[in-house]
Order: sequence, then structure tokens, then C-alpha cells
Amino acid sequence: MNLMDLVVDSYKDIKAQKYLGIFGHPIGHTLSPVIHDTISDALGKDMRYIPFHVENDLGTAVKAAFAQGIVGLNITVPHKQAVMEYLVDIDDAAKAIGAVNTLVRTEQGFKGYNTDMPGLARAIASEGIELNGKNVIMLGAGGAARAVAYMCLKYGASKLYIVNRTYEKAKQLADDMNQIFDVDIAKPVAAADYNMIELDEYIMIQCTSVGLHEDDGLPLITDEEFYKMASCGVDLIYNPAQTPFIKTLLKLGIKAFNGLKMLLYQGVMAYELWNDVEVSDSLVETVYRNLCEAIYGKKIVLVGYMGAGKTTIGKKIANDYGYEFLDTDEMIVQEAGMSISDIFAKYGEAHFREIESEILQKILNHKGNLVVSTGGGLPLKENNRNLIKIIGKVFYLHASADNIYDRVKGDTARPLLMCDDPYKKICQMLEERDPIYRLAMDVLIDTSSQDLDKIVNNIMSFMI
Ligand code: NAP
Repeated sequence: MNLMDLVVDSYKDIKAQKYLGIFGHPIGHTLSPVIHDTISDALGKDMRYIPFHVENDLGTAVKAAFAQGIVGLNITVPHKQAVMEYLVDIDDAAKAIGAVNTLVRTEQGFKGYNTDMPGLARAIASEGIELNGKNVIMLGAGGAARAVAYMCLKYGASKLYIVNRTYEKAKQLADDMNQIFDVDIAKPVAAADYNMIELDEYIMIQCTSVGLHEDDGLPLITDEEFYKMASCGVDLIYNPAQTPFIKTLLKLGIKAFNGLKMLLYQGVMAYELWNDVEVSDSLVETVYRNLCEAIYGKKIVLVGYMGAGKTTIGKKIANDYGYEFLDTDEMIVQEAGMSISDIFAKYGEAHFREIESEILQKILNHKGNLVVSTGGGLPLKENNRNLIKIIGKVFYLHASADNIYDRVKGDTARPLLMCDDPYKKICQMLEERDPIYRLAMDVLIDTSSQDLDKIVNNIMSFMI
């Protein structure tokens, strides 16, 4: 078999010195090339990631991949279990989970790993969620849920309820995991019997496929009261970015994340195994941004001091290029139902920056091309600087103090300028903030002297 005959049509012309790949059916819309090609490019490797359409004859395809020098493979639906019989070795965790998603070359043939499980563990840790000693409710008991249940017990969850539509599958999964870890922690629950779950605080992990489709409702349990037991939630689904599960938790004021970071880290960890490298945190951020862009659309973030042109330039980009325009300050006022100066006066600046972080989380998963004008002080908080870098390309709109003064001097709606010497105040604040904006930016755009068309063209030249 010539493996190249199985390459998905849109990848047929891609040439490189070495190849990575994925076997699956269906496979055309995989996002994995975004992950692996971004890393290869950053590390200067002439290596491309190719989707292979493998429906039948999996064993022959695995053999051919080894003989034809493929550096590493991912395995996806429907082959994650079946592939195990064609490998020379299988990592213990993958064996216990009963699924392999990554094949790594050895002298004799491929060895199988499961990076879904450590990938999700890294994703959860990156959101500040600690499993050790915590109670967990999982919804679902399918293939992905096996990796999740394994992760919960491996990382020390103290209670684990597995709720599923088909009780027998939840029971099988709970029994398997209790046996592997020699514990009695995993408890199966039929969805209809959810009331038997002890009233407590739980990390909730949504592992069913309910939420993938627009008209899907809440998974398994439609009683919103149930979700009040969540301390935080993770949905393995990432497209749509906000499933009914995530929307419900957010509405209740509970932190919730989707599964995109799981996809990200399972890919990063596979790449590390294949190439014996460590992918740096900053490269992981770049990969994440590219993934967000590939799924949810392109995003432009404008930072800078008042009067630098964020609103005017943002609106022109939106108008000329069909992007949606969002203003973080406007979003906050709308959501809080009070003015920014009232929020500052009532709750203080730290609280306001927290709200900004929450707004940025929402923007991160916003679908479609977007230009975001940020509040002048938003990048002062490190977490906000990190978030905007992940959201999109960050442009620092820089203008001189003289220019800013000319643009805003008559504006009575700016409380910061209600002082004896507004020009001096502008000079002072620009000096303080300039290094912060430079920390936050990808690109500096001088808005002092150029005309609006030139500025917008300049920005858009970075978005190709
Ligand atoms: P699977 O093996 O087919 O399992 C599907 C699960 O969803 C089962 O628990 C099934 O319950 C439940 N389910 C399906 N339709 C349902 C319905 N109408 N009502 C109630 N329950 C229903 O799928 P999987 O491979 O585990 O994947 C599950 C989800 O995880 C998918 O949405 C997938 O996109 C996502 N995922 C994400 C990542 C990532 O990297 N973020 C990785 C893997 C999977 P029964 O047992 O009763 O049929």
C-alpha cells in the first residue's frame, strides 16, 4: 500500500522532508494540522502533518506508515481501540484507558500512547483547577469519558460520580476504573436517578456529545438547580464554543471552560513524544491562538491610551473588512448595568480588572472575525495581557502626548482629564503606561501622523 494514496484531497500537493499524520474516518475537517504545523514552523522543522483517510485496512495502513518513514501518527474515530492490535507496545495508561490516540516510532514498530488524558489534565491545570482531594461529577461514559475517569482517579479525586443515559456503560466504566486503581471511588448513576448524588460541591466534566448541535439542550439533567453544585465546569466540546452546559454554568456565575485546550495539549504532548522536544509555554500560546483563529475566526485587539484611536480605527476595520466591533468598556457597562466610574467607586480597580478578565474569556471564544477595542488600563493586569495575546494579534496604537491632548481636550466625558493640568496628566500617564503597552503588544502602530486609511491598511497587512 502506498500511504500517499490515502491523503485527503486538499493535502495532496503538500511536500516536506518528513511527515506526521492522522488516521481516521471521517477526517477531512481535522484541526490537528494547525497544531503540528505551527510547532514545526516555530522550531524550523521541514515537517508537515497530513490527514489520511483510513476507513478499512487499518493494520496495513499502520504497517505502511512505519515502512514509509512517517515520524508519528495520531489515531482518531473510529480506530482508537482497533489500532491497539497493530502495535509493538502500548503505554500502561493507554492500556488502562483502552484507547490509543498517538503512535510513536520504536526500532520494531509503533508504540501506542493516549495523550487525551494527560492533555486534559494539563488543560485543567492551566485553568487553575486542582483535582486532588476534589469531588467530580462526569456526564457521559463513552470513549472520551474513559480517559476523563482515569485522569480523575490518577490525579486524586476523592469522589467520582459517572452519570450516563445508558446505566450499564456507566457501571462498566466505574467498575473498570475502581479495579485499575484498586479503590471504590467511582460510582455509576443513571441520568434519571441524579437525585441520589450527595449534595456537595463538584467539579463537573461534560463528556457526552450533547451540545454539538444548535438545538441541543442541557445534557442528561435538565434541572438547572443540579448545576448549582458545580464549583467549576469543563465541557469536552469546543465547537460551538459555548454549549448549553457552559452557558448554564456561566449564567449561575460558575467558571466554565470548553474542550479546546484539551485538543491543544493532547496535540502538543503528541508532538513532544514524536520529536523528543519540549514545547515552550509561549509556543503553546501561539498554537492556541492559531487554533482559536481556525475555529472561531480572526481577531484584532487594539490597546493604547485614550485618544490613540482605538474606537475610530476599530470601527473602520469593522466597516471596511466585515469584522464585528466590540469595546470592552461598553460590554462591561452593559453587563454590570452601571458606569465604569461607578464600578470603580463602589468595588475598586482590582474588581474592575477582574470583570475585564471575564469579558476577555468570553471574547476568546467569540465566533467570527472580530476587532476589539480595549479599555486603556486593561493591559495593566498581567492576566489580561496574557489573555489578549491568546485572543488575537495585539496592536499598540501609539500617539504622542501632543496628538492625544489635541484629540481629547474638549471631551468632558473623560473623568481622568477633569484636573488642573490635563496635558501634564496625559504626559505622566503615557510615560507610565507605554512600557506596559509594549509588553502587551505584537505590533506597534504609530497613529500620530498617518491618515486613517493608511493606519487601517497597515494593521490589516499583518492579518493575512
Ligand atoms: P462516544 O464514545 O460516542 O460517547 C458519547 C457519550 O454521549 C455517551 O456517554 C452517550 O451516552 C452520550 N450521548 C450521546 N447522545 C446522547 C443523547 N442524545 N442523550 C444523552 N446522552 C447522549 O463519544 P466520545 O468519543 O466519548 O466523545 C464525546 C464528546 O467529547 C464528543 O462531543 C467529542 O466531540 C468530545 N471530545 C472532545 C475532545 C477534545 O479534544 N476536546 C476529545 C475527544 C472527544 P450512551 O452511553 O447512553 O450512548
